[in-house]
Amino acid sequence: MKALRLSRWAQPARLEQVPVPRPGPGQVLLRILAAGACHSDLHLMEWPEGQLPWTLPFTLGHENAGRVEEVGPGVEDVRAGDAVLVYGPWGCGRCRPCRLGRENYCERAGELVAAGGGLGRDGGLAEFMLVPSSRLLVPLGSLDPVPAAPLSDAALTPYHAIKPSLPALAPGSTAVVIGVGGLGQMAVQLLRALSPARVIAVDKDRGRLEAALGLGASAALASGSATADEIRAATSRLGAELVLDVVGSDDTLALGASVLRAEGRLALIGLAGGRLPFGFFGLPYGAQAATSYWGTIPELIELVALAHAGRIRLEVETFPLDRAAEAYERLRRGEIRGRAVVVPG
Ligand code: NAD
Ligand code: ZN
Ligand code: ZN
Repeated sequence: MKALRLSRWAQPARLEQVPVPRPGPGQVLLRILAAGACHSDLHLMEWPEGQLPWTLPFTLGHENAGRVEEVGPGVEDVRAGDAVLVYGPWGCGRCRPCRLGRENYCERAGELVAAGGGLGRDGGLAEFMLVPSSRLLVPLGSLDPVPAAPLSDAALTPYHAIKPSLPALAPGSTAVVIGVGGLGQMAVQLLRALSPARVIAVDKDRGRLEAALGLGASAALASGSATADEIRAATSRLGAELVLDVVGSDDTLALGASVLRAEGRLALIGLAGGRLPFGFFGLPYGAQAATSYWGTIPELIELVALAHAGRIRLEVETFPLDRAAEAYERLRRGEIRGRAVVVPG
């Protein structure tokens, strides 16, 4: 079968021929129906050698929907033909967080050889993908797998970052989303679906800002030297209860920290590698800044319910597997409006 493989660090991934895997005991073989292209893969293709403990080559694609093709011995809870989403962060499956469905915070992550399919092990940018356990599959039901595949990352990651702030997102509150690409556009929709907060989108790209307005943001601001003042003006100079930094550069972190309200929360999602100095007077009193990594299995189940209810929908641009490398090139150039999704069939 064809698969988009990362074979060398700091190099683009390439389409190669690899054998179709066979499911061993407890494993599930999926025929991939849709695989989203995440900006994290672009970071991965730029990662210098020796920094990640993963062995090359492996197939990219960590945002996957598929149909069960074959199950290995001992698998009884899914059957050939079932449509499923793949929960992406694969933990040890046995520690306390894993047992709670919080495999994104697995206590033994440091001992594992990979972070998931497409992140150290073979992922879904291929015709087939092997999933190590049925515990990592969430039923898709009647959802169209193409717009649903990004639920497993583009939606799950901001959902997990938003949820702890929901009690603070009362009427009259404000949430700021910095970077309204694949994840950020989903964040805008989730905030609108889950809270009465006013949503302010920030991006450097005009088309993304228009998309955010179309998804329910009440203001869309071009990032620049005036952005912080514009946000403060829009919040009676009080600032925002929640800032999602979906870029993560020095500049966006500084912007996020500067528009936070007392007791507000800055959730860092983007992996641009920026830093924020920490000190007593660096943030408003009682404010928090935290990284937020992916999401939990229960949260993915909740998102599937939200999608079934028609409350969230990501604009997707589809690519055949033969053009997967082009999808990433277009993502790198900022030309994908919502999410690029590869459809191998
Ligand atoms: P994307 O390319 O679809 O969107 C990024 C958006 O940020 C674009 O709209 C771009 O115009 C905007 N942007 C870039 N620099 C900006 C700046 N300085 N100011 C304002 N806007 C700016 O990317 P994506 O797939 O949505 O991923 C976003 C980030 O989230 C990436 O860094 C990715 O690696 C990271 N990510 C993190 C997690 C996690 O678990 N924490 C999960 C998935 C993705
Ligand atoms: Zn991702
Ligand atoms: Zn674990």
